Amino acid sequence: MTTAVYPGSFDPVTFGHLDIISRAARSFDQVVVGVMSNSKKTPLFSKEERVNILEKVTEDLPNVSVRAFDGFSVDLARECGASVIVRGLRAITDFEYELQMAQINRILAHDVDTVFLTTSLEYAYLSSSSVKEVASLNGDISKFVPELVAKAVCRKMEESVR
Ligand code: ADP
Repeated sequence: MTTAVYPGSFDPVTFGHLDIISRAARSFDQVVVGVMSNSKKTPLFSKEERVNILEKVTEDLPNVSVRAFDGFSVDLARECGASVIVRGLRAITDFEYELQMAQINRILAHDVDTVFLTTSLEYAYLSSSSVKEVASLNGDISKFVPELVAKAVCRKMEESVR
């Protein structure tokens, strides 16, 4: 049985992430989505909120589970008994960072491999930051995220201006 972990900040989860999750769920027996902190980004949602949202939007995928995690992706992989870390690649701009992280992770844990899934073309432009940017200007984000995510983002934005 092959377990893969898919780490990320998912702040918020987008259709691009969901595409990677559902494709990984077809290739691996179990997929654990790891909700991590990203020291370079101040999150809109708490980790618990992100886990909650991800659980709801992946509930139709029986071999996908979600958990919060602090630390290195390889430690998440070890804790889950996973031999694979899944990451998504959108453009050449993702590549340099992702390659570097994959090499570092391989040094930290030589028995864990990073597998890259290339974005589906329709999501190649899509990132959590652009979703937040559009929402902050009261734009319609329903093409980028599931409805419950769009509602949660709008609620958060309203709270933050109060
Ligand atoms: P991180 O903060 O670790 O980059 P993200 O939540 O932004 O976390 O992204 C998690 C993973 O999903 C990364 O590998 C990222 O490249 C990938 N990803 C993000 N958006 C897309 C998309 N639209 N298509 C494919 N992969 C994506």
